[in-house]
Amino acid sequence: MEKILMKTPLVEMDGDEMTRVIWQMIKDILLLPYIDLKTEYYDLGLVHRNETDDQVTVDSANAAKKYGVAVKCATITPNAQRVEEYNLKEMWKSPNGTIRAILDGTVFRTPIIVKGITPYIPTWTKPITIARHAYGDIYKNSEMVVDAGTKCELVCTDADGKETRQLIHQFTKSGGILQGVHNVDSSIASFARSCFNFALDTKQDIWFAAKDTISKQYDHRFKDIFQEIYDSEYADKFKEAGISYFYTLIDDAVARVIRSEGGYIWACKNYDGDVMSDMVATAYGSLAMMTSVLVSPDGVYEYEAAHGTVQRHYYKHLKGEVTSTNSVATIFAWTGALRKRGEMDELPDLIAFADRLESATLRTIEEGVMTGDLAAMSTLPEIRKVDTEAFLREIAARL
Ligand code: NAP
Ligand code: MG
Repeated sequence: MEKILMKTPLVEMDGDEMTRVIWQMIKDILLLPYIDLKTEYYDLGLVHRNETDDQVTVDSANAAKKYGVAVKCATITPNAQRVEEYNLKEMWKSPNGTIRAILDGTVFRTPIIVKGITPYIPTWTKPITIARHAYGDIYKNSEMVVDAGTKCELVCTDADGKETRQLIHQFTKSGGILQGVHNVDSSIASFARSCFNFALDTKQDIWFAAKDTISKQYDHRFKDIFQEIYDSEYADKFKEAGISYFYTLIDDAVARVIRSEGGYIWACKNYDGDVMSDMVATAYGSLAMMTSVLVSPDGVYEYEAAHGTVQRHYYKHLKGEVTSTNSVATIFAWTGALRKRGEMDELPDLIAFADRLESATLRTIEEGVMTGDLAAMSTLPEIRKVDTEAFLREIAARL
C-alpha cells in the first residue's frame, strides 16, 4: 500500500526499559510500514536525561506545546537505587511531573475494554474515565503534631497586612494533629477547562463531585468555579454535542458509579482521584490495559500508557529470556496521538488507520491470542499465550 502521509509532526517522547523495547517494536511492526511517520523525537530515556541535565524533558514539553500532540513512552522516575544503577548526576524529578507542570494539564485515565476480561463490576460495559486534579489539597499541606494545652488558629495576612484569625481547635486533655491545605482558583479553573474540553472531545458526559455540604467554603469553591466556567464557556457547546455536565456530592457519585454501565468522565479532587483511579483500574482488570492522556486547558494532548517501564520483564529480556509483555496500552497511546493529529490536520486516512489498529488489537485478544498477564485472567475458552513480539505480529496480520 501507499504510505499514509502526515502534515505536522507528532512529538515523540521515548522512554526506558521494557517499554522502550516495545516502543521500537510498535514502530517497526505496526506503524512504519503503513505511515510516513513524522515525529519530532525526544529521548527521555534516563541515560539521555542525565546527559542533558534533564533539559530534554523540558524541551519535549515545550515541543508538545508547539505542535499540540505528543506520545510518551513510560520512563523511570529515579530513586536512590536508580541513581546508583545509572550513575546519575542527580536524582532527576519525575518526567511526568515536569511535563505536567509545563503544560498545566489534567490526567485522564481510561481502561481498554475487551471481551474475555470481565470487570469485577459486571454492569461496567463501557469505560469509566477518571480525571484527577493534580494540584494542592493534602499533597501540598503543612501539618503538625501538638501537645495537650495547645491552641491552634488559622491566621491569614492579606496584601495590606491585615490579619484574620479563626480558631481551629483548643487542645485540652489530649494533644493531637492538625493540617493546613490550600488550592488556587487558577488551578481549579484550568482543571475545569481541561475536563470540559476532554468531555467535548470524547463526547461523554462529565460529573464533578466533592463534599460541599461539609466543606462550605473549600469544596464549595470547586463547585462554584466549575459551574461558572461551564455556564459562561461550555453550556452551548455541550448542548450542541448532546452531552451533559452535573455536580453531585461525592457520596452520591460513588453510589452512581457502582450502579452505572460506564461511558462517562468522573472528575475528582486530588485525593479522591488518587484513590478512585486505583480502585477503578483494579476493578476493570489490569493496569496493562489502562491508557492515560494529559490534556492542557489550551488543548495540548499527551498520550501514554498508565503503567511503568515493566522493569522485571526488562531484566528477563536482558538475560535473553522470552518475555510476554502487554503492549496494548502503549499501542493505544500511539493510536490516540495519531487520531488526534489526524483530527487537527484533517487527515481522514490517519484517523481511519488509528481506528483500524485499535480494532485489530482488540480482535487479536478476542480471538484468544494474548500476552501472559491477560491469559491469566481471560475467561475465553481457547487461549494462546504469545511472547512480546509475536503478539505485535499477530496484530499486524489482522491489521
Ligand atoms: P510497572 O512498570 O507498572 O510494573 C509493575 C508490574 O505490573 C510488572 O512487574 C508486571 O507484573 C505488571 N505490568 C505492568 N505493566 C505491564 C505490561 N504492560 N504487561 C505485563 N505486565 C505488566 O511498575 P514498577 O515496576 O513499579 O515500575 C517500574 C518503573 O516504572 C519505575 O522506575 C517507575 O518509576 C516507572 N513508572 C513510570 C510511569 C510512567 O512513566 N508513566 C508510571 C509508573 C511507574 P509481573 O511482574 O507480575 O508480570
Ligand atoms: Mg493512587
